[in-house]
Amino acid sequence: MATATIIDGKSFAARLRTGITAQITQLKADHGITPGLAVVLVGEDPASQIYVRNKGRQARETGMNSFEQRLPVTASQTELLACIAGLNQDPAVNGILVQLPLPKQINPEAVIEAIAVSKDVDGFHPLNAGLLAVGGAAMVPCTPLGCLMLLKDQLGDLAGKRAVVLGRSNIVGKPMAALLLREHCTVTMAHSRTRDLAAECRRAEIVVAAVGRPEMVKGDWLQPGATVIDVGINRLPTPDGKGRLVGDVEFASAVEVAGAITPVPGGVGPMTIACLLLNTLTAACRQHGIPVPEIKPAAE
Ligand code: NDP
Repeated sequence: MATATIIDGKSFAARLRTGITAQITQLKADHGITPGLAVVLVGEDPASQIYVRNKGRQARETGMNSFEQRLPVTASQTELLACIAGLNQDPAVNGILVQLPLPKQINPEAVIEAIAVSKDVDGFHPLNAGLLAVGGAAMVPCTPLGCLMLLKDQLGDLAGKRAVVLGRSNIVGKPMAALLLREHCTVTMAHSRTRDLAAECRRAEIVVAAVGRPEMVKGDWLQPGATVIDVGINRLPTPDGKGRLVGDVEFASAVEVAGAITPVPGGVGPMTIACLLLNTLTAACRQHGIPVPEIKPAAE
């Protein structure tokens, strides 16, 4: 007897990409500008190769230019920084993304800080994190931006809502909490040292789970009717060796209690790349001094 609305992130992301495609067509017609996204991959990690391929393909599908830079797994930090310096200077490149994780000889912080703030479409540069915290024109990290879009689509105005964010990483938890605060939610950030996580969750009308712990959040941790955004992507072993993807929320029990919930897969995951494309379009407009268009997902 499932009661929750299933939030279809896959469909929302596809409609968002259609909206982005329309704006890129407009940008080309009005200003002769084609946004460009550069993705840098160091090494040959199979999962990273798939992510990079998908990002390039989806960028091209929206009408953007896509540039791929590959460096060997043995590349030094100096070589990677030189590659980034070249992309920073290249006017055809509006957005730069360095696929993580990086080989151990390279310091990821140094790499992130080397990306021009205006081209940092992942939103990981400390200056963009600071701009988000003070309410400036930041590039916002893609995954929390996608979560916020799904929440606003589901709930409309978020002002005054009690929200709990589980996890405080720089790429998901912290920017998610900053975005919810910007929307005037009352935000609690929970983490591994939080006492009585279940009680914190039960107080919340919005729960965003980003802990990387398979099915940690149970249905009886939730307030009836809560909106649950499950960011987690965890692969559990299966006898056939292929593995099964689960989130940080125990979907079977949560769906009985929540008002709305994202599935895994097909919830937050597809929103991340769509928001990367959105950020690249935003970056291109800002770099050319053009007002950033309000992108709405196309109608269903
Ligand atoms: P991190 O490992 O960087 O951070 C995990 C956070 O969860 C930490 O703040 C940690 O607390 C907290 N945490 C860990 N265990 C517990 C626990 N038992 N109780 C309470 N809090 C806990 O992870 P990320 O933020 O990078 O990713 C989180 C999840 O989201 C992962 O499953 C990841 O795969 C997924 N993800 C999905 C994306 C998508 O596109 N859908 C994109 C990015 C991530 P503390 O700080 O105290 O250690």
